[in-house]
Amino acid sequence: MSDMEALVRKSMEGTKAEVLVPNDGEKYEQAIQRWSEHCIQRAKCVIKVSCADDITSALSFIRTQKIPFVVRGGGHSTSSSSSITDGIVIDLSLMRRVTVFPDSKTIRAEGGTLWVDVDEEAAKYDLATVGGTVNHTGVGGLTLGGGYGFLTGKYGLTIDNLLEVDIVLASGEQVTASATLNSDLFWAVRGAGHNFGVVTSFTFQAFDQPRPVFAGPLIFPLAKLPQVVDFVNTFHEINDGNQAILWGVSCPPPAHVPVLLTQLFHNGTVDEAKALFAPLFALDPIANMTASIPYKTVNSLLNPTAGFDGRKQFGGGAFKLPLSIDLVQSLVDKLFAFINARKGMEESLLLFETVPYREVVKVKNDAMAFSNRGEYYNLAIMMKWHDEGMDAEVRNFVRDLAKGAGLAEGAVRKDGEEVKDGVDGVGIYGNYANSDVPASEIYGNNAKKLQELKQKYDPDNLFDRGTRLVSKPVVVMN
Ligand SMILES: Cc1cc2nc3c(=O)[nH]c(=O)nc-3n(C[C@H](O)[C@H](O)[C@H](O)COP(=O)(O)OP(=O)(O)OC[C@H]3O[C@@H](n4cnc5c(N)ncnc54)[C@H](O)[C@@H]3O)c2cc1C
Repeated sequence: MSDMEALVRKSMEGTKAEVLVPNDGEKYEQAIQRWSEHCIQRAKCVIKVSCADDITSALSFIRTQKIPFVVRGGGHSTSSSSSITDGIVIDLSLMRRVTVFPDSKTIRAEGGTLWVDVDEEAAKYDLATVGGTVNHTGVGGLTLGGGYGFLTGKYGLTIDNLLEVDIVLASGEQVTASATLNSDLFWAVRGAGHNFGVVTSFTFQAFDQPRPVFAGPLIFPLAKLPQVVDFVNTFHEINDGNQAILWGVSCPPPAHVPVLLTQLFHNGTVDEAKALFAPLFALDPIANMTASIPYKTVNSLLNPTAGFDGRKQFGGGAFKLPLSIDLVQSLVDKLFAFINARKGMEESLLLFETVPYREVVKVKNDAMAFSNRGEYYNLAIMMKWHDEGMDAEVRNFVRDLAKGAGLAEGAVRKDGEEVKDGVDGVGIYGNYANSDVPASEIYGNNAKKLQELKQKYDPDNLFDRGTRLVSKPVVVMN
């Protein structure tokens, strides 16, 4: 047993946590798996915590020994913010309990919960909340960075429906943060939560969802891009918040040929949806897998396009409507030029997430740390590849493509421009950005206040992963 392992085991004695080290074989190998293979790192030790007290013990050890660490929620970040080499992982995967309170229509989800846990449990009470569109993502990372979902058009972001968190601070202290308790911490947690502690439970507002929803993919040949862009350009006027359309390009399996994918969503009847999306149905799709389905199923529809194999890199930008076909075509051409010149990248995806923002912009950007509210939509770039030697060039490509989208025609706020009205956001969703994007770009005018709160709640910068608020990590390896 190494010195480190002995120390960890001793400090976690008497707790219910499970400690795993490389010698533990399959259990350890499982514990270091991540959604993206390039984020699989050989941690010195994984502490699978089961409650807040376990986390307090782990943090006490980490502070005393000055050992770098990360926190793992659902393990989906592609910036390695939940994985580490030669350090410790505080792994929340044993903390997945979800409790629904039907009288108050609230949901309490433990810190390591996945969205599938929330969707399934809430559905038992005909309730739902704003969760991610791929249900194996973690509630933790998605919520702490903001959270967009199919219900955003109606109810805003995940954080707009977050009522309270229980959080273990860097000091090991366990506190509750809400609008009335530690409200400054609650402000910071909603958008920059990973910088402030380990959240052990999230309490969300839920909404009645007794009826099925209409959802599913329509797939078109690439040649239909102009007509689909024409339809999307009407979307802001025709939606009432109960709809969304995610659309973009990829070369999905098994054929691996370029296609135009659309994922439709309407929280209502089939007839209403057919009328609203009529111009798309009229375009004679290659495949139509739309159907009326329970809400709890909708966030599983994209799971097959987001499997666990391969190396992946997310990137984000923003776009405004109306989009010009030339801008879209140029982004599509850049994507295909890059992936066609390399092997094994066919499943990369460029996705225009046309999720209505009317509810999102009702909250101002200074109301909480999250700063990406504006009259625009998120562009998601998801690259997939297999060759480790390509990691750096893929990262650079994603950054350039995202910038090209955001700052070209249909642009949102440009570098250095003043924020006009408090809802003129930064134009980049932190959860899609790599961790090398500076805090000022993710948090805009909120970055300064966040740095001040960091001094108050984590003065030694223990939580230094993801978008970094303070540049110098204080904790160093012994
Ligand atoms: C396939 C896929 C689909 C996606 N779809 C959406 C979507 O529909 N909407 C959307 O908004 N985003 C979406 N995202 C982005 C997603 O929000 C981020 O990838 C997010 O970081 C995932 O959270 P996680 O807990 O799974 O990841 P992790 O890698 O485990 O965590 C990400 C960060 O959050 C921290 N963290 C996680 N849990 C906690 C906790 N309880 N306490 C403190 N810190 C914590 C980690 O330390 C890390 O810094 C998607 C991502 C993927 C890969």
